[in-house]
Amino acid sequence: MLVTLPSALVDCRNLVDGEWVASSTGRGRDIHSPYDGRVVGRVGFSSAADVDRAVRAAERAFPTWAAMPLRDRARLLLRFRELIVEHLDELSNTVALESGKTPDEARAGVQRGLEVMDFAASLPNADAGGALEVSRGVTCESRREPLGVVAGITPFNFPAMVPMWMFPIALTVGNCFVLKPSEKVPLTACRLGELASLAGYPAGVFSVVHGDRETVEAIAEHPAIQAVGFVGSSAAARAVYVRATSAGKRALCLGGAKNAIILAPDADERLTVQSIVDSFTGCAGQRCMAASLLLAVDDRRGLVEKIADAAARMVPGETMGALIDPAAKERLTHAIDEAERAGAKVLVDGRRTAAPAGGEGGIWMGATVLDGATAGMECARAELFGPVLTVLRVRTLDEALAVDLGSPYGNATSVFTTSGAVARYVGERARSGMIGVNVGVPVPRDPFSFGGTRDSKLGHGDITGQGGVEFWSTLKKITTKWALQPDATWMS
Ligand code: NAD
Repeated sequence: MLVTLPSALVDCRNLVDGEWVASSTGRGRDIHSPYDGRVVGRVGFSSAADVDRAVRAAERAFPTWAAMPLRDRARLLLRFRELIVEHLDELSNTVALESGKTPDEARAGVQRGLEVMDFAASLPNADAGGALEVSRGVTCESRREPLGVVAGITPFNFPAMVPMWMFPIALTVGNCFVLKPSEKVPLTACRLGELASLAGYPAGVFSVVHGDRETVEAIAEHPAIQAVGFVGSSAAARAVYVRATSAGKRALCLGGAKNAIILAPDADERLTVQSIVDSFTGCAGQRCMAASLLLAVDDRRGLVEKIADAAARMVPGETMGALIDPAAKERLTHAIDEAERAGAKVLVDGRRTAAPAGGEGGIWMGATVLDGATAGMECARAELFGPVLTVLRVRTLDEALAVDLGSPYGNATSVFTTSGAVARYVGERARSGMIGVNVGVPVPRDPFSFGGTRDSKLGHGDITGQGGVEFWSTLKKITTKWALQPDATWMS
């Protein structure tokens, strides 16, 4: 197998006040590896009382943590970063084991998270605040301050990277952070908690609380939690956003996506074909930046067929990972069946792909290409979240843009072209938050921030980069006048 199994079943507990404690509900689930279906661990779900225990410990830790100079908090983050690098192989293996990613994909996710850590560790040099003499003898100064106890709720598809979008910045600006990872992938979060403790984060500064929807609702309503970062499906993002903001909290909730690639007639074949295949098959299509809709403009060069040929060469278990669970496979198979019934042609069919050797009990699906779809079909509109590319053939660039603009989502739109004018035209008109030009997965790298628009993001600002700094902190303004300074000023 591509991944190494843990020597014993992993018992995922909550990290509360620096201690690993069992949740009190008695509810929980076994964790099956998507690679072969084997049980690799178990997680208990937390009640509102369990959440409260973690939050109260975080509240107690907050004053001392917030009073620590920013530079010292950044040094601790660097120690945490060092430990993640030291344990990169092991951590990537855990990510792959529980999420089904290939080891390379798992490692790339952790490395992307490390880049956010680099950004957060640079804050003492970047964010000097500011002071100005606003009237004679009167100075106004701004100070960036933490919010208090904050929480991050994360999805299954990036067990390390998505939490790492949040906690490096949230902690370094001085908050105490409570992580609620997806109940489908709790092992990585436990390991991150262990490494945080090993790095020397004081008890209560970094907590992990496992659970499902009930736990999330307790977090969204807890009166002592000041801000909630959420990443997951759009329906859950909306529910959490409404609940958290109704309880008076800041919320930034990133949701699902249906990302389009516009394939212009002049696209460079070498740059295009494999990039598009990698975009929709990477992480077995289970990523919010995967392109799942190809808007092929006047394709007389057979690029769509070449993309289909390259997709047919992808091998589950080698160049592609597994799906998260049997429900995902069922949902995708049903969506492909429906598309076929509605008139789409299945150019490449991954429904009955064989499992790789040793992965017989795993959740495998091959790359699938659906051609000749129309804009109204479910496969062209809905987020399928699997290795499925829906191709819609259009005559003009404006027709392609109209389809993309009709989507309720707004994470990414890419264009493949050799024309600067076409690239600019698409870049200016598409309403997605992240645009790719000859890039199939246009994830901005730090210091550029990550965030979509419309149903792909509720709340203001972005989750990484300066957006993250602003979300997890507040600006305090201090206006000062000293008795020795001249009286002739409008400030009393
Ligand atoms: P999910 O919505 O099922 O779960 C995400 C988190 O929300 C989990 O921690 C889960 O316990 C919790 N949750 C689930 N249902 C809930 C509900 N009704 N109320 C409150 N909390 C709930 O998402 P998932 O299946 O784990 O992840 C896949 C989804 O995440 C896809 O839609 C994908 O596009 C999206 N995603 C988006 C981004 C982005 O940046 N926009 C990044 C990664 C994943």
